[in-house]
Amino acid sequence: MNSNKKGLNTICTHVGELEDTQHKGAISPLYMSTSYAYEDVDVKRYPRYFNTPNQEGLCKKVAALEHAESALIFGSGMAAVSTALLAFLRAGDHVVLQQTLYGGTYNLVNEEFSKYGIEYSFTEGWSAEAFEAQIKENTKVIYIETPSNPLLTITDLEAVATIAKKHGITTLIDNTFASPVNQNPIDFGIDVVIHSATKYMGGHSDICAGAVASTTEHMERIFHLAKNFGGSLSDYTVWLLERSMKTMGIRVRAQNENALAMAHFLDELDDIEKVYYPGLPSHPDHDIAKKQMKGFGGMLSFELNATLNASQFQKALQLIKPSMSLAGVESTLLSPTQTSHALMSAEVRAEQGIADGLIRFSVGIEEVDDLKHDILQALESLK
Ligand code: PLP
Repeated sequence: MNSNKKGLNTICTHVGELEDTQHKGAISPLYMSTSYAYEDVDVKRYPRYFNTPNQEGLCKKVAALEHAESALIFGSGMAAVSTALLAFLRAGDHVVLQQTLYGGTYNLVNEEFSKYGIEYSFTEGWSAEAFEAQIKENTKVIYIETPSNPLLTITDLEAVATIAKKHGITTLIDNTFASPVNQNPIDFGIDVVIHSATKYMGGHSDICAGAVASTTEHMERIFHLAKNFGGSLSDYTVWLLERSMKTMGIRVRAQNENALAMAHFLDELDDIEKVYYPGLPSHPDHDIAKKQMKGFGGMLSFELNATLNASQFQKALQLIKPSMSLAGVESTLLSPTQTSHALMSAEVRAEQGIADGLIRFSVGIEEVDDLKHDILQALESLK
């Protein structure tokens, strides 16, 4: 395990021993351009080999944040998800995936895996028993997402990791919604942690990136595939992401606070039918969330009363803007039916419990009273 004992904000802003590589990373990627002398050419460094100075500096920062030995940064969250999954699977293998899953991951598995001869099953629900029930002789991977997009279901990390270890299965988790600020799955026995760094790590809705963290042994396996698949992140974006992560600790903690306040506020409004947020005591898995999360995150979902039109409500908002993405410093929202789960069939969405009127709310760092006021004025305009 990583011996770095520094606090979260210190890792985000400095990463002591990385100071040197970070500094080099801020310089233009000269190693790629013409060298002054034949002897100066660094034949080992190349962006697609994931080993330029700024890539390496950022990878060390991600590893430290996820309590992992090693990490890699990718060109998108899906490049990270697909490379990590395929690093542990080959023809004839079987993977168990959580039923409630980001739509893009569902599509990857559903549209591509049979071409590679990889078998897959989705759980029924997200309890530890639901995972165990799908395990077969040839199961090599269990894939978890908690909190899940968009229903904020919570999976018991320790319980699933224990079952997987008993069967010799590798566990992978999409930790995007929690961010490394709120949840470190490796501490609960999970093997590989994946992020869409487009979200909380980037935090400003202006870059696309991904990350994977694990043991050195697992990361070597993932790296081997990664350099062949070519999903590395551009050096310029590595620099932007590293800059963004300096404030991740304070951003996400402010988002936790605002989201908790907004969840309670929405929960008490007569116009709101249901609020999905793991920080609410009424959430069915609140106790598990308390056990494994340091904060409940900045994401929540809600449904309006059936008499109110969800699209009109979203159009009436003045401060909270619609967005395809999430996790930025500005509050945004949109229906999963139009975004993250648009390519999923209506039947599968219904099976997962994603109502057409469901609204996914990414809470930013604004003054919480301004957010409340915007919601109230939008509801009022519908009457
Ligand atoms: N995982 C989750 C939970 C997501 O919400 C997303 C995107 O919304 C992804 C993965 C995919 O990330 P990217 O869009 O960076 O490829």
